[in-house]
Amino acid sequence: MSTYRSRALQQTLNRKSIPISEPKNRSAYFGSHVFNEESMQQHLTKEAFQGVMNAVKHGSNIDRKIADQVANSMKNWALSKGVTHYTHWFQPLTGGTAEKHDAFFELGEDGKALERFGGNELVQQEPDASSFPSGGIRNTFEARGYTAWDPTSPAFVYGTTLCIPTIFVAYTGEALDNKTPLLRALNAIDKQATGVARYFDKNVSKVNASLGWEQEYFLIDKALVLSRPDLVLTGRTLLGQSSAKGQQLEDHYFGSIPQRVISFMIELETECIKLGIPVKTRHNEVAPNQFEIASIHEEANLAVDHNSLLMDIMGKVASKHQFKVLLHEKPFKGINGSGKHNNWSLTTDNGVNLLSPGKTPMRNLQFLTFFVNTIRAIHTYEELMRAEVASASNDHRLGANEAPPAIISVFIGEQLTSVLKELENVTDGKLSPEEKTDLKLNVVGKIPEILLDNTDRNRTSPFAFTGNKFEFRAVGSMANCANSMTVLNTIVAKQLKDFKAEVDKLIDNRSFKKDEAIFNVLREYIKQSKNILFEGNSYDIEWEKEAKRRGLSNNKTTPKAVKAKVSKKAIDLYREMEVMNEKELRARKEIELEAYSLRIQIEGRVLGDVAMNHVIPTAVNYQNTLIKNVKGLKEVFGKEFEAVAKEQMDLIKRISQHISGITSKTNAMVDERKAANKTLDVEKKAILYCEKVKPYFEEIRYHCDKLELMIDDELWPLVKYREMLFTR
Ligand code: ADP
Ligand code: MG
Repeated sequence: MSTYRSRALQQTLNRKSIPISEPKNRSAYFGSHVFNEESMQQHLTKEAFQGVMNAVKHGSNIDRKIADQVANSMKNWALSKGVTHYTHWFQPLTGGTAEKHDAFFELGEDGKALERFGGNELVQQEPDASSFPSGGIRNTFEARGYTAWDPTSPAFVYGTTLCIPTIFVAYTGEALDNKTPLLRALNAIDKQATGVARYFDKNVSKVNASLGWEQEYFLIDKALVLSRPDLVLTGRTLLGQSSAKGQQLEDHYFGSIPQRVISFMIELETECIKLGIPVKTRHNEVAPNQFEIASIHEEANLAVDHNSLLMDIMGKVASKHQFKVLLHEKPFKGINGSGKHNNWSLTTDNGVNLLSPGKTPMRNLQFLTFFVNTIRAIHTYEELMRAEVASASNDHRLGANEAPPAIISVFIGEQLTSVLKELENVTDGKLSPEEKTDLKLNVVGKIPEILLDNTDRNRTSPFAFTGNKFEFRAVGSMANCANSMTVLNTIVAKQLKDFKAEVDKLIDNRSFKKDEAIFNVLREYIKQSKNILFEGNSYDIEWEKEAKRRGLSNNKTTPKAVKAKVSKKAIDLYREMEVMNEKELRARKEIELEAYSLRIQIEGRVLGDVAMNHVIPTAVNYQNTLIKNVKGLKEVFGKEFEAVAKEQMDLIKRISQHISGITSKTNAMVDERKAANKTLDVEKKAILYCEKVKPYFEEIRYHCDKLELMIDDELWPLVKYREMLFTR
């Protein structure tokens, strides 16, 4: 067998699971490596603690004196944990996380060594991070970037480094990261949702968005991954014949987890718990070697940080267990890809979930208000929602009959559909006392009861209501959740702002009672946003046609989808909600498109290399064996040889056909790639990569996969699907 492949398989088969014992009682060490409220209270002076809490709760500034105090205590706390370095930890527009470590160690004026960390270092840093994408924002040399402390996400210790969550912005103020717009969006939703929540409870003074993510991933032996150039360089297999057994039997889903994987999971979860990431569930997913880890929901900014941190920790822990984590949305053809469900809701500072029905009609009217406004926001901005989950890798998943399609719709279940139908019939104008009583008793009053047994869950829906939260399922497994959370909170904030203005107008100008005004506005919203509601099977081809009739967008590829980010509608929205200005939006779109072209370019190069330099030589090698065989048969059988050697000769011919198929398609792809590279316009270039280069991938793969079926297994150079998915 090809030495590389056989060595990788040998290594995999010889692996033993590393025995890991899980510390008992997670609650005892939860957050032990986090400078959280509890440790701050212990280590900070009262004044400094108050200062930080005010910044966290009310966004107030932290003055220099307090920053110095916090920095000093933070340093002492970190040193007690064996820390030597600190870093401003941020989330550049590459989608990952970034850090630049500095030692606490310094030399004093007298030349003596000491450990120093002051307010300056805590609050602001100027990393020379000029290589991160900025979409043109930092073209001028004055426009340097700096990181600034985000006190709403606590500092933590990872390894021997103190990590301080920060934003990353240009000196001119534009965001260069994923966190800055998210914080602005969370601010907007707080303001607007608080305004609306106060219709129902005057004591509400803050509303937090919450996020609970469910992270899917594949776990494959390190040696097997390293033996495949496509997996190493692109995160997915660009070729490979499907395994005879895939996920048809669905015997992996929720099945027993293999011991080596369990050890990995225990260590991963232990690390997470120390870092205050409240991970709770683990299980097998549908595809072989696919798993999920999910966390309890938290305030959205914190949850986004925690998911980013998780993705980083996963790789490190996996490496220790001789695994590789594949976060790509579609690492293997023919079996399910991976997503990241984003569960979202809004909670008031007195603990009420605004998307949860309650015990009284008033609480339920509050629920319906936020529920209907969310639906309308999605209806108005469905195309933008799609744009914010677009990426080269997620394109493989959306619409591939396993994940939600590229069409955004909302699933609410049968019972809530009928509640909305009833509300649609509410009288236009003032309501009679009888109607009000009827609504209270029979419509609004009935909600909690019916939701209890509302268990029908539509797994095909991209945005589904699941009892007390919405679940955004189109988000990719590799994505930073900040984008999806930024768009969702921004559009709902805008919607709530408009809602409040309309309700207030009815109260002021037509002297409607508050609930009358709310019912009247909601009725119109329900009528206007019906088109976004869909209860059926989103994979059905009929839905595509129906969605088109309804005027919903269906942007199947990233270059098409991201256009919506800079539409007038989007620019107005983000400006009004003070989340991003036009320059920031254009920069982001450009970065997405550049990343798209680069990724397709890399895939094209890797595929060309593997097909030409691994597959063809193997095919020729095997063909030579066959030729030798045919020559031998001729020697032995003389004239009759043709009948005896028929199959071999046929095979020789077919191998030649596939070799020529690979060669001609690869050459054609290279030509298209060259043409695309000559194009300077970022958008045109991405479209060329999408429409001219990428289609060759499937064609080249087709020939390679056919050869895999023909060629002696002993000779095949690449680890096969069945080996990656079923070797344990
Ligand atoms: P599923 O059936 O989709 O796996 P679960 O009930 O296990 O759903 O919950 C999935 C996620 O939803 C968890 O992360 C959970 O914390 C989160 N979740 C529950 N309630 C809320 C909420 N009010 N806001 C946001 N997320 C929530
Ligand atoms: Mg889910």
